Amino acid sequence: MRYLIVADIHSNLEAFTAVLRAAKDEGEITEIWCLGDIIGYGPDPQACLHLLREHPHICVAGNHDMAAIGKIDTSDFNVAAALATNWTSQHLSNEDIQYIESLPLKKEVGDFTLVHGSPRGPIWEYVLSPVEALASLPFIFTDYCLFGHSHVPILFQFEGNDCYQIQLPSTLHPDKNRFMLNPGGVGQPRDRDPRASFVIYDSVSNSMKHYRVKYDISETQEKMIRLGLPPSLANRLSYGT
Ligand code: ZN
Repeated sequence: MRYLIVADIHSNLEAFTAVLRAAKDEGEITEIWCLGDIIGYGPDPQACLHLLREHPHICVAGNHDMAAIGKIDTSDFNVAAALATNWTSQHLSNEDIQYIESLPLKKEVGDFTLVHGSPRGPIWEYVLSPVEALASLPFIFTDYCLFGHSHVPILFQFEGNDCYQIQLPSTLHPDKNRFMLNPGGVGQPRDRDPRASFVIYDSVSNSMKHYRVKYDISETQEKMIRLGLPPSLANRLSYGT
């Protein structure tokens, strides 16, 4: 069984398509595990929702998903993010809205908990340090946790009462040590690497592999400008910021 783990697609169809192609090139994907923020920022919210839903998948809701359907307000968003959220909310069908409304904030799948922000604060909280990871540990009831939101691939490994922040290795074998893993962002990476980031978990070989894949960034940027989305959001895609 091979599971494609993605986070923060953010309406970037070119990036999501490139990720799916790269993942399928290596073998059949049993299921996509999506850690929220399917939409927001980018130019193709409907196409990304539809592409995800064409595949067997499990998905949790992110803050941008919730904001686009009016479930949370955008007062905590910066101006560009709020403008893009407004635009996105005008480009969703009733069916898209119903689908997003149906998404849970947290989902347990076997040994994994899937969440967007953190197990403690699924919508808003960023997990950027071992201190924040430890604060979420009491809210994790499985061995491992997969999260998104920061758009930065990272691993927090728990050992006893300690937690270590580790650069996400190219291959990881889940073992007795519990961890929190962020696969990085698909549609708007923020670790200064503009390539789309994702992880494949192979339950047979018990391995998790981290991948980066190039996509046609200029195509996404041209669409964003043409549709009137904030230029700053288009520009940042070039830099992975
Ligand atoms: Zn996001």
